Amino acid sequence: MLADFSALPTALSRAVDVARRLLAEAAARHAPVTLASSMGAEDMVLIDLVARGNLPIDVFVLDTGRLHDDTQALIEETRAHYGLPIRILVPDQGALESLLAEHGPNGFYRSVDARKACCAVRKVVPLGRALAGYGAWITGLRRAQSAARAETPAHEWDDANGLEKYNPLVDWSSDDVWDYIRAHDVPYNPLHDQGFASIGCAPCTRAVAPGADERSGRWWWEDGGSQECGLHVAGDRLARARPAGEAE
Ligand code: SF4
Repeated sequence: MLADFSALPTALSRAVDVARRLLAEAAARHAPVTLASSMGAEDMVLIDLVARGNLPIDVFVLDTGRLHDDTQALIEETRAHYGLPIRILVPDQGALESLLAEHGPNGFYRSVDARKACCAVRKVVPLGRALAGYGAWITGLRRAQSAARAETPAHEWDDANGLEKYNPLVDWSSDDVWDYIRAHDVPYNPLHDQGFASIGCAPCTRAVAPGADERSGRWWWEDGGSQECGLHVAGDRLARARPAGEAE
């Protein structure tokens, strides 16, 4: 697969150059490096950039056990399309059983604490395992996604996880992402065509109206929430609280 970006509009071509530079810098300065993928549109752009650049950056997915079928299918499609060995991390079985015993399978609808306990077991704790031993991780965060992400830097020290964190698409708009996907025939989740701007777990994500906050389809039943699960927002102590039943 060739790194041909000549067909892109000039502004997007510059954004691609910045993203490629950040990816190359991460790989050169902080190896080993890993890319966190939810299989959302931004992550598919990053996977494509890594593959086209033949960069030594591996890819992982947190399989929470509650992902959409379309997301699972896209993992299969992406592995075949790029020939990438995507790492798939699942929740600790004991912690998951304790969570289910305390809150039931859908306890996240009943309280913010139960929701954050679920995100901790299914996402935050597995993320720690995914990042162990790495010098940097890559995310598809964009500032335009939500108010909570408006100050996201392109590169930062991730104190909570103890490694460098690169956000190469931080200045990209949603249109940039989709222009790139169409220009390069990048595989993507068909749920985006049904109005899903952001795709997470099936019971906690829904389609949003055109122009709405891109994260507003997450945990829509909560009042005034940050629409974050604890993977990215520093200081979200509740989300990072040790889940019920997990050893100290
Ligand atoms: S998004 Fe929903 S189902 Fe997924 S880990 Fe968080 S609370 Fe649980």
